[in-house]
Amino acid sequence: MPSSVPEGLLEFIVDRINVGILAVDRAYRIILWNEFMASYSERPAREVLGRDLFEAFPELPRKWMERKITGAVVLKNFSFASWKQRPYLFRFNHNRPITGGIDHMRQDITFMPVMDGQGEVTHVCIYIYDVTDTAVYQTMLQDALRRLAESNNRDGLTGVYNRRYLEESLEYEFTRARRYGHPLSVLLLDLDHFKRINDTHGHLAGDEVLRQAAQRITSAVRNVDVVGRYGGEEFLVLLPETDSEGAQVVAERIRSLIAAQPVVYGDTAIDISTSVGLATLDERMAAYTDLVERADGALYRAKDGGRNQVVVQVAGE
Ligand code: GH3
Ligand code: MG
Ligand code: MG
Repeated sequence: MPSSVPEGLLEFIVDRINVGILAVDRAYRIILWNEFMASYSERPAREVLGRDLFEAFPELPRKWMERKITGAVVLKNFSFASWKQRPYLFRFNHNRPITGGIDHMRQDITFMPVMDGQGEVTHVCIYIYDVTDTAVYQTMLQDALRRLAESNNRDGLTGVYNRRYLEESLEYEFTRARRYGHPLSVLLLDLDHFKRINDTHGHLAGDEVLRQAAQRITSAVRNVDVVGRYGGEEFLVLLPETDSEGAQVVAERIRSLIAAQPVVYGDTAIDISTSVGLATLDERMAAYTDLVERADGALYRAKDGGRNQVVVQVAGE
């Protein structure tokens, strides 16, 4: 020890620092156990010093630690472990009031080889950093981002608008079209025999079909039209300023585009088609739900009529 450091100072620092410090020899016997370790583990130094680390703490991940310690010995180099891979090494309670569901102290770990005069590693010193605060903030940030994504307007699988946004748009466009006497049409699509696609090719292939269908629908409409996922394999297209004749053209374009070519998934080609129900605003409709209901009735008849077709609502129904 350099003569400039007063006697006892290093021990004092090791005991006062807010980092867990322990050291083991090559036989995994504990030869250093600072106050941080003693107070969080509720095991004083006199109780653990000289004992085998894994015998004193059988709950430790022995294989993993032996690998880390051996690594430090053999490579004569530091080794690190982050709480992100392994939340903690020692199961300590922490004293934070707000934890966002974090139960025990999160720990970053450093394994430091200690060498003798000949450059041989005689001990490995292990630092335990309390990173609970970092983990709490990270968890809070992730929660906030997830909530933000959830409140977003997009369907996670297909990227088209989600049901909530569709309903907002329907409400808005319905009210507007009613007030100004403008036309408004709705297409309700339901992919044909989708269950069979899932059963034959698997759910992931089914998901790919949904993505492709969404893309084809989007590519067939104008920017002002609103395309969204209405349910599992149902899509809704809202066509502002579009009367029944115009909507039929769009509906037929979508139908033929979807059936035009199979969806390629891996090395299989999956034939797909869709049925389409079309409804247009009329003065007897009191709410947008009437419009959607009418489109749904037309869709039902498209299914009944053999699928892969467009059916237009019958006026007065
Ligand atoms: P139809 O021609 O009469 O519409 O037959 P269908 O099999 O498409 O009808 P049905 O509505 O009974 O089946 C829809 C299926 O869509 C059932 C459900 O398992 C599946 N599905 C719903 N959402 C998803 C999804 O996100 N991914 C996948 N892969 N499948 C889904
Ligand atoms: Mg369906
Ligand atoms: Mg279907």
